[in-house]
Amino acid sequence: MAPQTETPRIPEIADETDVMREQLEYLIEHAAEADECDCSECRRYLRVRAILLEIFGEPQQAKVQEMAPQLVKAA
Ligand SMILES: [Zn+2]
Repeated sequence: MAPQTETPRIPEIADETDVMREQLEYLIEHAAEADECDCSECRRYLRVRAILLEIFGEPQQAKVQEMAPQLVKAA
């Protein structure tokens, strides 16, 4: 018997990842099909989307400002 004590945890993590992917796909599909039906699924989608797109919000402006001097040098 191999001393792999953490073996049982790996399927759980993979399973959780699969569930998250499925949920995300489900919510995206629902939001695409249902045109603002404002159900709990729609609200979950909006919450998830806000979290997932968080990094594309304010930090993006900071990145652009950081990149600006480099672009000037490259030009
Ligand atoms: Zn809905």
